[in-house]
Amino acid sequence: MQLVTYERNNQRSTGVLTATGVVDLPSASHGAIPGDMLDLLRGGQSVLAQAREASGAGSPIPLADVQLKAPIARPGKLLGIGLNYADHAAEGGRKKPDYPLIFAKTVPATIGLGEAIQLPPVSQMVDFEGELAVVIGSLARAVSAQDALDYVAGYTICNDVSARDYQRRSGHTPGKSFETFAPLGPVIVTRDDIPDPHALDIRTVVSGQEMQHSNTKHLIFQIPYLIEYLSHIFPLEPGDVITTGTPSGVGAYREPPRFLKAGDTVRIEVEGIGVLENPVVAG
Ligand code: ZN
Repeated sequence: MQLVTYERNNQRSTGVLTATGVVDLPSASHGAIPGDMLDLLRGGQSVLAQAREASGAGSPIPLADVQLKAPIARPGKLLGIGLNYADHAAEGGRKKPDYPLIFAKTVPATIGLGEAIQLPPVSQMVDFEGELAVVIGSLARAVSAQDALDYVAGYTICNDVSARDYQRRSGHTPGKSFETFAPLGPVIVTRDDIPDPHALDIRTVVSGQEMQHSNTKHLIFQIPYLIEYLSHIFPLEPGDVITTGTPSGVGAYREPPRFLKAGDTVRIEVEGIGVLENPVVAG
């Protein structure tokens, strides 16, 4: 099931994306399913089961009549994992880490499909990072890797946009938290539809040129371990998002470097999830 947040006539709601359009979940469930994705996810597996049922009952709104938004506008926590593909660590001259490198993206809000990444005038080194992201579905506190996937609602795509100059000067959180630096979506594919999140092809294309192409089988720290590790530091809550790291091919380590410029488009494809594409504009 592909969960979306969408807008129609300036009204925001939750829906299920089907082959013929978007089924509005609050109306298809006679108000039982919340129109806000965080509230929906807080309902846990029972609400997801209701959504699955409602998506078959409701009549879809054609995709042309809606605007898909980021599935979760303001995740409680948006956590990033650094250096989680060996080839990306190596291209930056770093060795494979012994423990996960964790940072917070403290963006004011995520952005959705088609919304613009704004280049901050103060940075000359804005870069792209195509990533598989995990959406937490229930409260995970000190859970074991063995049980960790039970706490996952589903998966989406994140572009972990990064201002390398600020990242080098001031650390991961400032470098990765400029406004619009978290494109997310376009859908959350529920866990039942992604039986193995460590077998997904991932590809980033910037203005028609392929920059990154890998597979999530190359993650150094896999999702169950990340959830175990993180949930022993702080509780993970429904709607929290963990973006799992990027493979090699980012702009900063290319020869010559290829930073984003106004007029670019960044397209990230993750197998089984879809395509997240965003234009780049001057901020
Ligand atoms: Zn990243």
